[in-house]
Amino acid sequence: MSDTVKYVLAEDRIPKAWYNIAADLPQPPPPVLHPGTGQPVGPDDLAPLFPMALIGQEVSTEREIEIPGPVRDVYRLWRPTPLYRARGLERALETPAKIYYKYEGVSPAGSHKPNTSVAQAFYNKEEGTARLATETGAGQWGSALAFAGALFGLEIDVYMVRVSFEQKPYRKALMEAYGARCVASPSEETATGRAILAKDPTSTGSLGIAISEAVEVAAQNDDTKYSLGSVLNHVLLHQTVIGREAIEQMEIAGDYPDIVVGCTGGGSNFAGSVFPFLGRQLRDGQNVRIIAAEPAACPSLTRGRYAYDFGDTSHLTPLVKMHTLGSQFVPSGIHAGGLRYHGMSPMVSHLKELGLIEARAYRQGECFAAGVQFAKAEGIVPAPEPMHAVKAVIDEALVCKEEGVARTILFNLCGHGHFDMQAYTDYLAGTLVDEELADSVLAEGFAGLPPIAAQ
Ligand SMILES: *Cc1c(COP(=O)(O)O)cnc(C)c1O
Repeated sequence: MSDTVKYVLAEDRIPKAWYNIAADLPQPPPPVLHPGTGQPVGPDDLAPLFPMALIGQEVSTEREIEIPGPVRDVYRLWRPTPLYRARGLERALETPAKIYYKYEGVSPAGSHKPNTSVAQAFYNKEEGTARLATETGAGQWGSALAFAGALFGLEIDVYMVRVSFEQKPYRKALMEAYGARCVASPSEETATGRAILAKDPTSTGSLGIAISEAVEVAAQNDDTKYSLGSVLNHVLLHQTVIGREAIEQMEIAGDYPDIVVGCTGGGSNFAGSVFPFLGRQLRDGQNVRIIAAEPAACPSLTRGRYAYDFGDTSHLTPLVKMHTLGSQFVPSGIHAGGLRYHGMSPMVSHLKELGLIEARAYRQGECFAAGVQFAKAEGIVPAPEPMHAVKAVIDEALVCKEEGVARTILFNLCGHGHFDMQAYTDYLAGTLVDEELADSVLAEGFAGLPPIAAQ
């Protein structure tokens, strides 16, 4: 049935500024601490890793941060992204709910990640960086940074979690097509990688290990900086173009969401979609329910501790207070590689502590069922990560049906699944397994929290 309802914005409606939620918080998040001194870190501590412009954004409390012209120019390749009404899904569910989704899969890398990779590449280029080192899980962030590096003339070195490196050769090919170098992590190139391989030559790697490798390379080379695709405030900030556009598109639709949903790995696509709505709520008291959807196999928000922890396995990063499963926790090999991080963005964690957002965890099998239902109803094949959001949306839409209430639900479809066909193949063949994550496994992770967590 051809009743596609799509809300498009003209190019000049690409937001001129990012939205910084730090300006509207009822109380600031806890400080980032230096692991040696236990004192809050200053800009100088971060300078070996990041350009000053990004360090400034990391700690800024200005509500609006202007998007540089050259960044907006690159955004024009795929922004503004479309907002759709999911009529097909509404029909399939026979729900009175109105479901809308913002689609970020139209970017060159196929996800929301270029919203920040382009900005990070721009600021690094401006401050004279020659090379960026980074990590990637499933390869989405690596390809987004490779794309941005190609446009701004930066060398890109990507440490890719070994299990994904072997399972997802096409993501590596995409990075290499953009001119990046992609190395399986743990690698022989860093002290971190060598130490891990000495202990376990067959290590399949983890995001925490890959982050350690990239940070090590950046810390030891003057011309090299580090780049992170999620978690940090400046990354979340860059993603707010999603929510800002969505607010305008919902206005055109003559609607406003009662519920906004996003999936959470490190929290960036979620934050980018919901912070602009949350900001309105904080300023004007507009009431929106906000739901974070995470995997049951890596449940930092629903089962993690809110504690100071390291962002990486080798403890090279500062200490941040976040919902964490412990920096040594290695999640099972679920296909939503982008959601396999032991921690959650400190800002998203803080909002959870303030009671401003809810969180739910879903199993892989039920997420794939939701993803396939969505693909059949809407035609767009979701990546395994946003399937978690789709699952939460379907659950909420079914509650609406039960209660006979027509709520408006908005979610972020943050990427397409075209590089994830092996995962679809496994699901359709019935070979995906959902392992129970035992409390005893979580306890092992918590035992590795740094002593400051007890304070
Ligand atoms: C990286 C990625 C995620 C997870 O990262 P967030 O920072 O939580 O958004 C989710 N979905 C897609 C498509 C990704 O590429």
